[in-house]
Order: sequence, then structure tokens, then C-alpha cells
Amino acid sequence: DLFCHKLPKIELHAHLNGSLSKLTLKQLGCLENSISQYQSVKAIGLKDAFALFKVAHEATSNTKNLYIATQNVIEEFAKDNVVYLELRTTPRSEEGMSEDDYIETVIKAIRENRFDGILVKLILSLDRRRSREEQTETLDRIIRFKNSFPDLIRGVDLSGDPAKGDFFRDIFEKARENGLKTAIHCAEIQNDAEVKNILEFKPDRLGHGTFIHTNPELWALYKQLNIPVECCLTSNVICLTANSYAEHHVQEWIKEKLPFCLATDDKGVFNTSLSEEFLHIHKASKLNELELWTISYKSIEYSFASAEEKNFLRFSLEKWKIKNI
Ligand code: 5GP
Repeated sequence: DLFCHKLPKIELHAHLNGSLSKLTLKQLGCLENSISQYQSVKAIGLKDAFALFKVAHEATSNTKNLYIATQNVIEEFAKDNVVYLELRTTPRSEEGMSEDDYIETVIKAIRENRFDGILVKLILSLDRRRSREEQTETLDRIIRFKNSFPDLIRGVDLSGDPAKGDFFRDIFEKARENGLKTAIHCAEIQNDAEVKNILEFKPDRLGHGTFIHTNPELWALYKQLNIPVECCLTSNVICLTANSYAEHHVQEWIKEKLPFCLATDDKGVFNTSLSEEFLHIHKASKLNELELWTISYKSIEYSFASAEEKNFLRFSLEKWKIKNI
């Protein structure tokens, strides 16, 4: 346990509003009754999991609370010895808060709260439930902010209920043309036609990738492309898309030496931490300390950090390894 906690970790898949701790919800004035609805430790399925985000969204519906939420999430990851965090969030408007206000607030909270030993980047999400026009409008906004904060805003994600909405390839082509990296939720549910479209676009990273290896044609295409997958074990076990930790599809990636990282997805909703995710894979796959360290080390390569930042992170992980393994 202690090893997984102390290990310097790289978090590449964390949704802001799914990462709020119970303590944060309390601080933001959430009632006990809503707080107990927010977190699920038992299996509930994807559909019910999506309903849980409502509590967090209500709690972050003004800039003051959104600022505190962002600050707390970063601090909690830092305490878990996450040395590099790519936080992602969906810009949204609420009464008294425009999408621009939302993005500005998150940027401000990241820039004003530099905790020791953690480097934070921002990925902005497009919600697949929104129309093509709405997604295009949000992307244009993201591009404008990225041009002002190119070191902070590194990429665009596609998320939201996988049973609804669409992947619009041209929107992500535009993001790429504008210097944004792409991380796309892919194959969380079986949807072979969409998975093929996403793979052919060749995103920089894929989220989940649960139902790729189950289709030989897709699996062959995927292996040829070799795109890093963000694996969120606890999230998948709770959402019932994996039967157990030992049967999680990450086993295929380990077996075939394919690129992956471990991630929390929504540490608040799924009551987990990145250390716990490492502990789960240690137990389920019998990985030793060096193998766990290697997962962390390789994740640096898959991150959207600059070449200089990647060198710095590699150097500090190597230094840690000499002392601790
Ligand atoms: P936010 O973007 O509001 O900061 O974080 C919560 C949102 O992230 C959810 O409303 C949902 O759109 C997205 N999200 C969180 N977890 C998952 C997941 O496991 N799969 C997908 N597709 N989207 C998710």
C-alpha cells in the first residue's frame, strides 16, 4: 500500500466534477442527503453512474464554488503523490456563469494554486450529448483560450453518456489543426461502427477502450495504430463494464505489451485514488514494484506535456527509482 502511495504518479484521465471529494461537497454547502447520493462504491451500471454527476454540477454552478472545487481536487491529487495531472472538464453555462466564465475560473484556480510537486494541465471536454453546432461553438471557444494559455490548455476530450450523441470527426480535425491534442472516450459500450471511425481518426489517446479487443477487425486495427489507452479500473468495475479487476481488459494490454496508463476517471463518484488504482493492478495482475513504476514512467510519454516537461518528469522518476526500488 505504502509503495503505491509513495510512487510518483501520472494522472491523465480525471473529470473535474467527478473528482470532488465528500469534504469538498460539504464545504460547498451540499446537503448530507445529496452527498450520500453522489458517491457509489457498489456496482450500479453506466446509466445510473451518469445521474450522480448532477450533485457535483449543482455544487459547482457558480464561479466561487467552481474555483474552490478545482483548487481542492488539485490539492488532493498532490497529496496522493500525483506529480503530473491532466484535469479535464466540460465548459458549461449556468445562470450567472457563462461558458467563458467557467473556463476562466478553472484556469485561474490552476494558475493561482501551485502545490509543491505537481504540474497541472487542462483538457477541455466536448459533451457528446450536445449537437454538432453546440460542440463546434465550444471548440471555437476552447481554441481561443488555448491561444492565450498554450502551456496550460493542452487538449480536447470527447465524453458524456456513451449511449447518446455522436463523434464528429471534422470537429476533432479542427482541434488538431489548431494545435490541440485529442483524447477521446472510445468503446465504453459496444458500438463497432463508431469505434472504427474514432480509430481511423487516430486520436492521441483513447479513454477506456473496453470493447475493442472483443472485435477481431477492430483489435487488429487498434494494434496497428498502437494508441495509448487510459484504463480506469474501479470506474469500469462499478459501472459493470468489467466483471472484476482481474478480468479487466487492461489484462489484454499487459499481455500484448500495448500502451496504457492507469487513471481514476472520477475519484469522488467512484471513491478511489490513483494509489488505489495501482494497488488494484498490483493485486490483480501480480505486478512487482518495478513494473508498477514502469507504468508510471511510460505514462509520461503518453501525456500532453511539452518535451521539456517530459524530460523533467522522467528525470525525477528515475531519481526516485534509484532511491526506492
Ligand atoms: P465535468 O466535465 O463536468 O467536470 O465532469 C463530469 C462529466 O464528465 C460528466 O458529466 C460526463 O460528461 C463526463 N464523464 C465522467 N466520467 C465519465 C465516463 O466514465 N465516461 C464518459 N463518457 N464520460 C464521463
